[in-house]
Amino acid sequence: MCWGDVGLFLARPGTGLGNAAIMAVGNPDQKNQWGKRWASMAITEPGAGSDSKNISTTAVLEGDEWVINGEKIYVTDGDRCDCVVVWATLNKAMGKTAIRSFLVEKGTPGFSVARLEKKLGIRASDTATLIFDHCRIPRENLLGGKEEIEMDIDAAKKSFGGAMQTFDNTRPMVAGMAIGLGQAALDMTRALLAEEGYEDNFGASMGQQTAIQHELEMLEAELEAARLLVYKSAWMMDNKIPNSKEASMGKAKAGRIGNRISLKCVEICSMKGFSEDHLLEKFSRDSKILDIFEGTQQIQQLIVARQVLGKSSSELK
Ligand SMILES: Cc1cc2nc3c(=O)[nH]c(=O)nc-3n(C[C@H](O)[C@H](O)[C@H](O)COP(=O)(O)OP(=O)(O)OC[C@H]3O[C@@H](n4cnc5c(N)ncnc54)[C@H](O)[C@@H]3O)c2cc1C
Repeated sequence: MCWGDVGLFLARPGTGLGNAAIMAVGNPDQKNQWGKRWASMAITEPGAGSDSKNISTTAVLEGDEWVINGEKIYVTDGDRCDCVVVWATLNKAMGKTAIRSFLVEKGTPGFSVARLEKKLGIRASDTATLIFDHCRIPRENLLGGKEEIEMDIDAAKKSFGGAMQTFDNTRPMVAGMAIGLGQAALDMTRALLAEEGYEDNFGASMGQQTAIQHELEMLEAELEAARLLVYKSAWMMDNKIPNSKEASMGKAKAGRIGNRISLKCVEICSMKGFSEDHLLEKFSRDSKILDIFEGTQQIQQLIVARQVLGKSSSELK
């Protein structure tokens, strides 16, 4: 689907990060009750983006209900989804040890969609600001995790780490989206060049190659390298082999290459690339988000660096 339209892919039920979180950390009852519903994921806040451990949305247990208060921004499919997995803190002073995720159904009193973003790309997918104002949900809607704040630091690290591991499952998918988009841009570029009478001649010696041919060869090679890295990270995930490093490497490489290919294709095709008569301009707009959400290029590089150097998140920020 991402060979065609990344925004449309994101706007389909079931592709959301929320669904991945439910399947990764939900108990059997939660998977049964919520697994097949369209779940978006609300982590980002006006004061917390890449540094997701700094979230301020609170969850307080009152009797048999959690009371959620806070604002979430940039929630993909936040308007159209059936439910949202909301990250909140039980006690901000306790840092990431106190962060939990909660299942909140659409229509719950106190939960509202405040606005939708107007965006550069992926316009078929809504990006919403969500408000939780004394929003009460059942106690059993705590997704996985414990109700008590973990005082044992190692256990606490595992709890937050468990939530973060959801990304090891979803980053290969986002990287795959960039591969599909990059392939579409290259295929369309070749088709547009062919209309102009241009033909590749990969058999030609270096001295006889055109500048365009050189560019296309480089882009094809980069795309193939990214594709293989992403396949590897997905294969590791399927086989339950820890893949944090490979998932981040794949997302960093594929996100970067998707951006580069789509813009280069606009450049190579000139007005046909820039014009709205063809899809290259859309591909170049859609591609940027794949290098931002679910961890930016810089954050992926940071994760890879930590893994390669054997440093913790507090040692390498
Ligand atoms: C269209 C769209 C859809 C989204 N969907 C969702 C969603 O469904 N759910 C959700 O919770 N969030 C979502 N997000 C939020 C997205 O994940 C964040 O935008 C992203 O994590 C970056 O956070 P930020 O915008 O606060 O930027 P910041 O964290 O403020 O970062 C700004 C810049 O600083 C860089 N930077 C930050 N920290 C470091 C560091 N330590 N080292 C080096 N560079 C650094 C970043 O790479 C970036 O370039 C979405 C965002 C967009 C634009």
